[in-house]
Amino acid sequence: MKHYLVLFLLVSFGMSCLAQKKVSANKKAVIASVNKHEAKLKEISDAIWANAEIAFQETESSELLANYAEANGFTVERGYADIPTAFIATYGSGDPVISILGEFDALPGISQKAQPTKDPLEEGAAGHGCGHNLFGTGSLGAAIAIKELMEAGKIEGTVKFLGTPAEEKFFGKLWMAEAGAWDDVDVNISWHPSAATKADVQSSLALVDFIVEFEGQAAHAASDPWNGRSASDALELYTTGINYYREHIRPTVRIHYHIQDGGQVVNVVPDYSRLWVRVRNSDREGMMPVYEQVKKMAEGAAIMANVDYKVSLVSGLHEVLVNRKGGAIMQKNLELLGPIEYSAEETAFGKKIQEVTGKPQVGMDSAITPLEETKEHPGGGSTDVGDVSWNVANINLGVTTAPKDTPWHSWAVVACGGMSIGHKGMLYASKAMAMTMVDLFENPKMVEEVKAEYKERKGDYKYKAMIPEGPPPIGSNN
Ligand SMILES: [Zn+2]
Repeated sequence: MKHYLVLFLLVSFGMSCLAQKKVSANKKAVIASVNKHEAKLKEISDAIWANAEIAFQETESSELLANYAEANGFTVERGYADIPTAFIATYGSGDPVISILGEFDALPGISQKAQPTKDPLEEGAAGHGCGHNLFGTGSLGAAIAIKELMEAGKIEGTVKFLGTPAEEKFFGKLWMAEAGAWDDVDVNISWHPSAATKADVQSSLALVDFIVEFEGQAAHAASDPWNGRSASDALELYTTGINYYREHIRPTVRIHYHIQDGGQVVNVVPDYSRLWVRVRNSDREGMMPVYEQVKKMAEGAAIMANVDYKVSLVSGLHEVLVNRKGGAIMQKNLELLGPIEYSAEETAFGKKIQEVTGKPQVGMDSAITPLEETKEHPGGGSTDVGDVSWNVANINLGVTTAPKDTPWHSWAVVACGGMSIGHKGMLYASKAMAMTMVDLFENPKMVEEVKAEYKERKGDYKYKAMIPEGPPPIGSNN
């Protein structure tokens, strides 16, 4: 009896908290929907986590998400933009059209068990070091919650869940944007697993990826080197040029290269060499002149080594076009939901990761970060969500799925994504995004305000994806 009383008090206290915060009936309904699908969402996320398929090879991960969307009444268009693992799941009709992004690709070589010390699930295999198993599944949970609200006749319009492959490499959204995936969409919603919870109103870095190849003449390295023209000499001169150039570029610029082929053996003058080069800057406008200069340097190196050269574009990313109006709507819903709560075991798991990776053992950070000022120069990395944000008004969210200061793209993030810390963040993201979509479906004026900010920030810029001619590089080992 006592237990029932305690339970009753707890439930009524919880309900009165929600009531005090004025959570609308529709928002309560989407929260309930996510809770209803919780077991299945965890199961899908864990299966994608265990499969850990890399860019453009996410066959099973894509199918898991597309199938669950279909089972829940969505119409699914598979193989979008000539990418076998890209798909668009649609429910409803008419305006407004709100889309939500779902990524699901993994990173090579960082396989890890769901435990707080480094130990691969499968030596050398891929792992979800960016939490995209949570990303895709959490977004689908939000889309299904909205679909159920439409089905109940509470809101009208169209909801689209976009299965967007290859975020870690090649950037699948570029081909989807060129194919018109967001042409009829009013507002797009996205999130990313993180070490903090906040409406994300920061941009990202623009980047461009390209391959530089040098081709010379092979010869015996000792008996007739005068007959050789060395492709690896050109490679060394080229990277030396890049490293001198660093002195004369703005601090916001980043140049990385990966030597993919520097010759095979020591007794042959190498006739072939190859690098993957990446240039980044705060925005595309500032990046392009650096890109042009770094390309030109390949010709200089080729002249010095008396070899031929070739530069081929892989793909390039725009920076994220921030939407503060949209961010503010998302932020209000985070405040309604309140911070994620962790068990003693989860806190201990987080602290152990911090101990092993040499970080202060402060545990999880689930406090809702207040809406930030948008920085002039964003830190951090790049994302093909940037390109989406130049095609449609975009609202971004970050949710805690790993302890504070966790090294990203590492085994530690993989570990959290396969257990309850990751699950909690994923389900929280589903709820926050579904609540934000409820706001948009209920308030045409809000949609117009978010779109107006997008149009103002975009100005008269004509979007064109930075991709080479021809089909997407499916099956490429680049
Ligand atoms: Zn990511």
